Amino acid sequence: MPVNKVEKIWMNGKFVNWDDAKIHVLSHVVHYGSSWFEGIRCYGTKKGSAIFRLDRHVQRLFDSAKIYRAEIPFTKKEIESAIKETIKVNKMKACYIRPVVYRGYGDVGVSPIGCPIDVSIIVWEWGKYLGSDALDKGIDVRTASWSRPAPNTLPTMAKTGANYMNSQLIKLEALADGYAEGIALDVHGQISEGSGENIFVVRDGSIVTPPLIDALLPGVTRASVITLAKEAGISVTESHIPRELLYIADEVFFTGTAAEITPIRTIDRMTVGDGKPGPVTRELQKRFMKIVQDGKDSHGWLTFVK
Ligand code: PMP
Repeated sequence: MPVNKVEKIWMNGKFVNWDDAKIHVLSHVVHYGSSWFEGIRCYGTKKGSAIFRLDRHVQRLFDSAKIYRAEIPFTKKEIESAIKETIKVNKMKACYIRPVVYRGYGDVGVSPIGCPIDVSIIVWEWGKYLGSDALDKGIDVRTASWSRPAPNTLPTMAKTGANYMNSQLIKLEALADGYAEGIALDVHGQISEGSGENIFVVRDGSIVTPPLIDALLPGVTRASVITLAKEAGISVTESHIPRELLYIADEVFFTGTAAEITPIRTIDRMTVGDGKPGPVTRELQKRFMKIVQDGKDSHGWLTFVK
C-alpha cells in the first residue's frame, strides 16, 4: 500500500520534513529488529477528529519497550501530546498514526547498550486495510502453514518489529495463494491470530476468542469488541480454539486498528456460515462505527484532537 507523503514527521521531539526523516544504516534496529511500535487511528467523526483509545495504545507501546528493557526517553503524556501535535501540524482530519521506538546508532554488537533509544511519530492517510469491500462482504483467508512464536521465544505481548517477520511469512503465504490474510496457529496447534489482527469465532450466538497465552497481541480493538459484545448481551469467553471450530462456526471475524471488524467469509475455501457477515458481526460493527463515525462515545475511548 503506497503511502501518501505528509509534510512533517516527529523525530525525538522535533518536526522534520518527510524526506529528511532518515536514520543511519548502522542503527541497531536495522540489523536486529529492535523496535516497538503502535498503529493507532484518528477518525474524522461527526464531532471532529478523534483518536481511538490513545492512552491504551501508548500504554502498550511502553509495555512493549519495557519487556525488552528499553526505556523510552519521553513520558506517556509527552508521547500523547506529540501524537496530537503531529496530526495538527499535518492538518489531518482522519489518519493512521505510527509511533515507533527503536534502538539507534551507537554500538554495532547484539547488545544494545550504547545505542540510543529514538522515537518517531508518523501519520498518513489510510483506507481499508483488507480491501474496499472487506467490511461489507468479508474476506477469504487460509490457515497459515507458519506457527506463531513459541512461548518464551519472541514475546507476543510486545508489539515489536521483530515479531512482524513472523507476520510477513503468514501474510506473504496467504497473498501468494490468493487469500487476503492468514490465520496462524500457536505451536500447540490452537488458533492464535491473523498476521495483524485478532480473531473471534461465533457459534450458537456466543463469542469465543483465544486467550493471551495463545501467542497473540493484546489488541486494543479486541478489548473494545469484548466490551461492546458484553454490553450487547452477547456472551464472550476467552478460551483455546481448536482449528476445526473455524470450519463449523456460524461467524468468524478479525479485529484490529487497521482491519476494524472484518468478517471472514471463507476459510481454506470452506464457507463460514452462509458466506455473509452474520448478525453478531453486524451488531458489533454497528456499535463500533457509531463511536468512531458519529463520535458518540460513552466509554471515554475518543481523544478529540482540537
Ligand atoms: N495482532 C497483531 C499481530 C497485530 O499486528 C495487530 C495490529 N496492531 C492486532 C493483533 C490488533 O491489535 P489492535 O486492535 O490493537 O490494532
